[in-house]
Amino acid sequence: MKVLSHTLGFPRIGPYRELKKAQEKYWNSQITKEKLFNVGYNIRKFNLHKQINNNIDLLPVGDFAWYDHILNTSLMLGNIPVRFQEKINNSIDIDTMFYIARGSIHDKKSLNASKMTKWFNTNYHYIVPEFYKNQSFHFSWKQLLNELDEAIKMDFNNIKPILIGPLTYLWLGNKIQGNNFSRLELIKKILPVYIEILLEIKKRNIEWIQIDEPILALELPKKWLQAFKNTYDNLKNYINILLTTYFGSISHNIELIKTLPVNGIHIDLVNGKDNIEFINKNISKKWIISFGIISGRNIWKTDLKKWYDILLTIKNNRPFLWIGSSCSLIHTPVDLNLELKLNKKIKSWFSFAIQKCKELSLITQAINNNDSSELIQWSKFIHTRKLYKQITNEQVQKKILLIGNNIINNRKNYNTRSLLQKEKLKLPFIPTTTIGSFPQTLDIRKLRSDFKSGFITYDFYKKKMKNYIKNIINIQEKLDLDVLVHGEPERNDMVEYFGENLNGFIITENGWVQSYGSRCVKPPIIIGDISRNKPITVYWSQYAQSLTKKIVKGMLTGPITMLLWSFPRNDISPIEITKQIALALKEEIYDLEKVNIKIIQIDEPALREGLPLKKSEWNQYLKWAIEAFHLTISSTKDVTQIHTHMCYSEFKDIIHSIISLDADVISIEASRSNNNLIKLFKSLNYPNELGLGVYDIHSPNIPSINKIKNFLINALKNISFKNLWVNPDCGLKTRKWEEVIKSLHNMVKATKILRKKIQ
Ligand code: GLN
Ligand code: ZN
Repeated sequence: MKVLSHTLGFPRIGPYRELKKAQEKYWNSQITKEKLFNVGYNIRKFNLHKQINNNIDLLPVGDFAWYDHILNTSLMLGNIPVRFQEKINNSIDIDTMFYIARGSIHDKKSLNASKMTKWFNTNYHYIVPEFYKNQSFHFSWKQLLNELDEAIKMDFNNIKPILIGPLTYLWLGNKIQGNNFSRLELIKKILPVYIEILLEIKKRNIEWIQIDEPILALELPKKWLQAFKNTYDNLKNYINILLTTYFGSISHNIELIKTLPVNGIHIDLVNGKDNIEFINKNISKKWIISFGIISGRNIWKTDLKKWYDILLTIKNNRPFLWIGSSCSLIHTPVDLNLELKLNKKIKSWFSFAIQKCKELSLITQAINNNDSSELIQWSKFIHTRKLYKQITNEQVQKKILLIGNNIINNRKNYNTRSLLQKEKLKLPFIPTTTIGSFPQTLDIRKLRSDFKSGFITYDFYKKKMKNYIKNIINIQEKLDLDVLVHGEPERNDMVEYFGENLNGFIITENGWVQSYGSRCVKPPIIIGDISRNKPITVYWSQYAQSLTKKIVKGMLTGPITMLLWSFPRNDISPIEITKQIALALKEEIYDLEKVNIKIIQIDEPALREGLPLKKSEWNQYLKWAIEAFHLTISSTKDVTQIHTHMCYSEFKDIIHSIISLDADVISIEASRSNNNLIKLFKSLNYPNELGLGVYDIHSPNIPSINKIKNFLINALKNISFKNLWVNPDCGLKTRKWEEVIKSLHNMVKATKILRKKIQ
């Protein structure tokens, strides 16, 4: 039998971020729904054509989403959070989707948007389904069928629809508080809808469906594992099912998987460490096995020759073999050919989504034809990369060797530091501050891009930037915040900015990937050893500090976030990469201290998402992640106050690591969580200070003084006012100025009322 190629999904933002642009225009009522639909149609058409032109055998349909694919599934099942149900008069459409995701649409009254959280250990965010006891489900939103019909109409006949598996869907959702039941109970009600959908798909003469159950890579509780058998017993016999897993190995669940009534399994061999022989032995020869060997999460060319040798032997004793991307390609940029400025040599090492399709067809054809000559050519570039001098920095390597495993944090203990800092900083109790960025208006973005394109001189750019900073400082003084920031106007993105300024990183022009909804990020690529030539943030921080008597915090992006939000190199370990970044940041801290910056914040919003999928591997990761933080601050003066920021509140599982970071102040998201988090810190006698994110910056809603005050009064039941800071729950760059000013005004006011009460 012929080996087939397929992708697990293709990026849906469009090569030029067409979707983002259209969505945002639609939300601002600048284009009609029809116009928006047209943009989506063109992207889907483009995606299918690009894949077929690159000889992909099975084309994914159902990978498109107007906002998020989990939200698609919620709408498909008619799972609309109760608070939205009344507002939408039972008609579910694309506006319902935006309403749930954003809390408001056009002029409709705003509600609390559904929560958003990270998709496994990626930097993609999905909209968390909300479940209620005794909820019912109906096949409601038929977008998948429409897209199938659309693809059929376009004359594609090798279509493979995609569904999120029912168990993964339930696993990813949240029970709404007060409802005492297990999400798993709902499977009985969901299955009839899935069956209805499978029947509809079958009517269209489709042979295979991809059902994604990535939770099989986790270490699941027993009752969840047990639910698989019954679930798939219900779904069998309608259409061939490719049970699809990704992001990690599944060998630990193989005994279960091999008994399921499905017709094939997809396994991610890039992010998982499954032994191919073991899988091959265990999985029935009647099944197809799809091996994911082209990384859906990184941009390096695949060593096709290496995989050819491995897969050829498998092919010889297995009739049905597919070759695929490791996971959906939504985590990679669309087209390398749009990178016009990249050094040719460096470019030859990369492969974006379209080029990955080419890789898939190259290796599939080579295996089918028993001829690897083209692959040898392809893999050659991977080997020449090692010889490229610019990627090695011997000095850095020596330093890392010297450090070895002896990462010593030279700072004194917290109590000693705290006394020194209190004396120096002289802050009021319950200090107010922000997380770093202020609104990035169109003119700031234009200024940066004009400078990048060489339209304006550095002097002009600097002068304008300083004006922004001055304005931001003025505004914060007027608001009477206690610790100020320079506002980060020079940064397009907190990771990209440092990537631009450190050796070892390169920045693409158009390498965007979706983060959530219309938000895309452009991860830098780590191609070599990392080092710092010159100070990066010092000029701006020093200038901001010169404008005010209040304290201005320096603002850095931490080593773990730098690693996780970049495309890392794959020839050295992530541990080594973070150590290199930590050393560069350490030099930056030294320079900030030299110009008398007294507080430095090291953001680590990605720390939690870096947790391995399997709990048994957590400790190992946390150990090196915390060490990287310690290495960064290892020579910081005791009197310099180190802050860190993380924008999530689920600390329960990693609280001990968070505590061992030993930052002087941690600011965290707290507005959407209840008091449990604060209680948790209390129960562990956490002595350091906590900055509570008292309002949600992801929503345009302005928090009232009362709301913030009550929130704080509640918090003070479990935390001493001596340890408390007040701040928004994340940076403000995506908000409008008018919202920011009003919200911060209320935040400061609420804090002042509280201070009076305590005095
Ligand atoms: N300092 C960054 C900002 O304010 C932090 C962003 C983040 O946590 N994602 O934008
Ligand atoms: Zn944040």
